[in-house]
Amino acid sequence: YNHNLQRTEKMQIISDLAASVAHEVRNPLQVTRGFLQLLAGRSDEASKPYFDLAAKELDRAADIITDFLTFAKPEIDGLHLLDMSKELRNIEAMITPLASMHGGVLHVDVQEGLYFLGNSSKLKQALINIVKNSIEAIGADGRIAILGTAEQGDVVVRIADNGVGMDEEQMAKLGIPFFSTKSKGTGLGLMVTFRIIEVMKGTIHFVSAKGKGTEVTIRFPLANNNETLPDEVPV
Ligand code: ADP
Ligand code: MG
Repeated sequence: YNHNLQRTEKMQIISDLAASVAHEVRNPLQVTRGFLQLLAGRSDEASKPYFDLAAKELDRAADIITDFLTFAKPEIDGLHLLDMSKELRNIEAMITPLASMHGGVLHVDVQEGLYFLGNSSKLKQALINIVKNSIEAIGADGRIAILGTAEQGDVVVRIADNGVGMDEEQMAKLGIPFFSTKSKGTGLGLMVTFRIIEVMKGTIHFVSAKGKGTEVTIRFPLANNNETLPDEVPV
């Protein structure tokens, strides 16, 4: 299923709202998390799990706000020459603990030297949203594979899982604000992901089968690593 990455009127309303609220909420969250950590250090062992839970929930709130903010202000400061193999290895380190917590196995296989123009932190946000969806889709014997290759002038990243999968109707709704089938879902993750990939001149493509799994393919135009680049290419 191919998604055309265009903004709807509904999205514009959300982005205006998000920009005004997100900044204000983010700071108190960070301060609270800091004090929580301080208190955890002084508490008895029996209370530790509760501090951990509270911190995790604060992190979840912060992630949601990050997604909102990216949508509200999607402009990327600049595009840099990135190596996808490095980017994917960083993401692997971040996401492996989360995958194991859900009883899943994450496998990353990436070719060296996949250069393209992008923004590292935004790419991270986009890819983590996709991999998180895979983690949330898998059950017992869950497997997630991330492959990075070069194909026909593109850097290609494939993220495949053997999770619950989707039907055509579900796939058509991907990226629509608030579309979620999860009790704790926000339905913002893919909306933001699509936007980030669009700004980086990439494409995203989903193949899925209900009960079998999902494969997401992302492509960015390959760049030459000896290409002389100004430090920042305005978007
Ligand atoms: P959220 O994760 O908060 O629900 P997303 O925008 O990230 O919001 O995803 C929207 C919906 O797309 C999910 O609720 C789920 O139904 C579906 N989805 C996305 N990725 C997958 C996947 N890998 N496997 C199964 N369903 C998926
Ligand atoms: Mg999600």
